[in-house]
Amino acid sequence: MTSLFRSNTLYLPYIQILVTLISAIVLIFNFSGIGMGLSLFMYILIGCFGISIGYHRFLSHSSFILKYNWMQWPLFWLGCLAGTGSPVGWVAVHREHHRRSDRQGDPHSPHTIGYKSLIAKYEYKWDKWPIRELIVNKFHRFIHEYYFLLLIIWGLSISLLIGPIWMTYLVIIPMALSIWASTISNYVNHKFGYLTYETPDKSRNLWITAYLTFGEGWHNNHHARPKDYRFGRNRWELDLGAFVIKNLLKA
Ligand SMILES: [Zn+2]
Ligand SMILES: [Zn+2]
Repeated sequence: MTSLFRSNTLYLPYIQILVTLISAIVLIFNFSGIGMGLSLFMYILIGCFGISIGYHRFLSHSSFILKYNWMQWPLFWLGCLAGTGSPVGWVAVHREHHRRSDRQGDPHSPHTIGYKSLIAKYEYKWDKWPIRELIVNKFHRFIHEYYFLLLIIWGLSISLLIGPIWMTYLVIIPMALSIWASTISNYVNHKFGYLTYETPDKSRNLWITAYLTFGEGWHNNHHARPKDYRFGRNRWELDLGAFVIKNLLKA
């Protein structure tokens, strides 16, 4: 029974399809303006704090040090709520993406796997991926092993507290938005936009994904200097993630 709930990055497409369908049904048959506001608020928390800052700039690239160590836990939990995997799974996929950008083995390059990069399906092997420091961490192992079960418990608890419709607006719709924002970014950020740096990959800077993903779309800048927590380089390259890190989180 446990294996059903054990995290495996291969299962991510099922989350993507399920939450997209549920979101569409609720938005068509039970639309609420207040609910949509809550969904967008959660999308900002999840996308900016969880994924861009917690999973990406802090955990994958260690690009800054947190003011207080405890801050990492809420950031990681918000990252989990994006529905794109545990911290271990996400970081494994992302480091592999940097290691083999746009070459064979890149988990989500549009140049090697085309439109399949729009569906978040990754093969995950404990022994293969360059995430040694996370594997030995008991917290990260636990979150990874029981990722799906934890998401189900979270959704059910919120359903019991405030009802299934509000749970959909607070958990399911933000998750659907986060998954699509992430997979669409993975595709277009290596295909469209302008170059600031000559990098060995095909990364590009694209304002529309940058604004929708809190700075992530300044992707060519990021590939050129992955250890820099600031992705925006020019004045017009707004980077909300870097702004929050600088003013709120950085030691
Ligand atoms: Zn990239
Ligand atoms: Zn990165």
